[in-house]
Amino acid sequence: MAQPIGRHFLQIPGPTNVPEQVLRAMSAPTIDHRGPEFASLTLDLLEAVKPVFGTTGPVVIYPSSGTGAWEAALVNTLSPGDRVLAFETGHFATLWREMAENLGLEVEFVPGDWRHGADPEAAADRLAADREHRIKAVCVVHNETSTGVTSRIAEIRRALDDAGHPALLLVDTISSLGSIDYRHDEWGVDVTISCSQKGLMLPPGLGFNAVSEKALRVSETAGLRRSYWDWKAILEANRRGFFHSTPATNLLYGLREALRLLDEEGLSNVYARHLRHAEATRAAVRAWGLEVLCLDEREHSAALTAVVVPDGHDADKIRELILDSFNMSLGAGLGKLKGTVFRIGHLGHFNDVALAGTLSGVQMGLELAGVPIDQGGVAAALRVLTGKAGA
Ligand SMILES: *Cc1c(COP(=O)(O)O)cnc(C)c1O
Repeated sequence: MAQPIGRHFLQIPGPTNVPEQVLRAMSAPTIDHRGPEFASLTLDLLEAVKPVFGTTGPVVIYPSSGTGAWEAALVNTLSPGDRVLAFETGHFATLWREMAENLGLEVEFVPGDWRHGADPEAAADRLAADREHRIKAVCVVHNETSTGVTSRIAEIRRALDDAGHPALLLVDTISSLGSIDYRHDEWGVDVTISCSQKGLMLPPGLGFNAVSEKALRVSETAGLRRSYWDWKAILEANRRGFFHSTPATNLLYGLREALRLLDEEGLSNVYARHLRHAEATRAAVRAWGLEVLCLDEREHSAALTAVVVPDGHDADKIRELILDSFNMSLGAGLGKLKGTVFRIGHLGHFNDVALAGTLSGVQMGLELAGVPIDQGGVAAALRVLTGKAGA
């Protein structure tokens, strides 16, 4: 098949577009991971990665996917048969539940409609009812990538505090880190789970656990079996600038460059950029006459937007048509949303013109697919981008 001309638009909510500076940084020769040059890279990186998590504590870096980082968080902090409280926010929360059960944990799963975030009131009720403190951890997906809904972590923290409950708070920031404001220390999160290929603008291959003092203490006696994922050996080796097994050296070069880019733009500007792009995207969706999946104004994701396709149309067929016609990839509906939504990723290495191009591709695709839309969608988004929306 001939390569289409021009740049491919990779507008899935992860993996995201990798900036050229990051690709170039990763193309440097691989070095001895037990030599002095490597130690200085590690020691610099372990500090440089902290601000994006909003922490001053340790961050463990694995050569892994995000799923690996989930497993690491669970096996380092929990014991067989422990109960955890989790929320059915969507596909990723459901997968996390399955993993916890596979590891021998008991999951109290608060049901959800895949259009709202984790409910702080439901959390408060469950925690208050748990007088014997059988719940050992509360697991929340910060940005549910399957639905485009962002949960209010600070309010979940408040529910724990109000109940005087000692459970750990474990948060998946896989598609929010580096795109949506996040504060590990301030929100009293015990383990923040993330990975490289979404807001951090890297290829897949790095997993992260930011770890609180309390989580580190609990890990001393946590009874789930672990070896590769054990924080202890990694943190010990990290002190001297090394890892206990071979790290993903070239991805670490990329991470250093990606963190430099985020720092250069300024994290608050990065978060504001994502909020603007999300607002412009919603303006387009609504002007087309279509529905955004997220139902709570406080919970719209700044990283992606899930769009509900009208009855009688297949979201996957529309995505296929857009890929064939315009060389642009959009996110599929996952799990029970298959065929009924498509997802527009607007996170990572992205700007106003790229968003305008993305939305133009979606608008043309919807028209070609015969979905009845108003043609004013892109124009409405552009008015948000130029600040003329209210004019
Ligand atoms: C992508 C994603 C995952 C899975 O990460 P992998 O790197 O594919 O293992 C988990 N949770 C969320 C919220 C995600 O967006």
